[in-house]
Amino acid sequence: MRNRLPPDQYISGILAGDRLVLSRAITLIESRRPDDQALAQEVLTGVLNRTGHSVRVGITGVPGVGKSTFIETFGKYLTDQGHKLAVLAVDPTSQRSGGSLLGDKTRMEQLSVDPNAYIRPSPAGDSLGGVAHRTRETMLLCEAAGFDVILIETVGVGQSETLVHGMVDFFLLLMLAGAGDELQGMKRGIMELADALAITKADGDNRPATDRARVEYQNALHLFPPTGTGWSPPVLTCSATTGEGITDIWQLIQNHQELMTRHGHRDRRRQEQQLAWFRSHLRNRLESRFFQQTGVAEQLKAVEAQIKAGTLLPVQAVENLLRNI
Ligand code: GDP
Repeated sequence: MRNRLPPDQYISGILAGDRLVLSRAITLIESRRPDDQALAQEVLTGVLNRTGHSVRVGITGVPGVGKSTFIETFGKYLTDQGHKLAVLAVDPTSQRSGGSLLGDKTRMEQLSVDPNAYIRPSPAGDSLGGVAHRTRETMLLCEAAGFDVILIETVGVGQSETLVHGMVDFFLLLMLAGAGDELQGMKRGIMELADALAITKADGDNRPATDRARVEYQNALHLFPPTGTGWSPPVLTCSATTGEGITDIWQLIQNHQELMTRHGHRDRRRQEQQLAWFRSHLRNRLESRFFQQTGVAEQLKAVEAQIKAGTLLPVQAVENLLRNI
């Protein structure tokens, strides 16, 4: 994107809720050009005091669990209630295969034309960490543009749910009834991250199975250690088709928000998330700076040859490299 605006115009446009300017600013965030990056940082800094006021919700679950359909129904419910909703995504596959595990956002047919909803697909990036970093910045811009609920969707198959958990206030895990844990690729670790579980597709013939799954998962969660915040993750059932349970999920998120805010847990969680973001970005930048220095590539080659030949130990090799560069 060439035609860049002066920083003030991005800032005033975003604060006025201008979606076109918002989209252009997000494109800056996603750009790799150093000048775009510098401008993006200027814009972010300019809107910083208007960020942080939204409810940030992460949604995860295996492909087919019903994430898109859920977000469509849940999102429509929220905008009908007068909320302004931004839907973002962290897709762990888009940068590798060009394919997408999260699918095409235009499938959210009603939400994608709703003037109170803003849907932005996952940025493409060279690493999952890079994608998460851009999504965090995009979330801040959306908050400054007046969106008061941010949904961040990701797929429950690996690292990405940990990253999304690290940027939200409430993490919702969608589950299928009747599929074993192995089938769902479900790790105990993901369940431990969840602030609530929702069993999807609780309609028609599937209802008895979803009710059974609810009890089973509730029992499983009881075995987990307490969260330390006074919140015990509940298990609900919902249907994006009939709308049943959708209101309950929003009510639950609000209860959680109220409890966490009252006891200062929400602010603490956000402070820890900001620090974790800072530390991981610092590590990434130090690493790339190190590898970009002149002479590093040649020295690495030489050192690795010595390591393979058995004439140099890895720890000594690192010490030598750091001393020389
Ligand atoms: P995603 O891959 O997690 O985004 O899942 P989708 O939202 O694409 O849904 C996967 C399939 O489940 C689709 O065929 C949907 O029509 C179906 N589905 C989603 N939600 C429901 C629901 O509440 N009830 C029923 N019966 N089917 C659903």
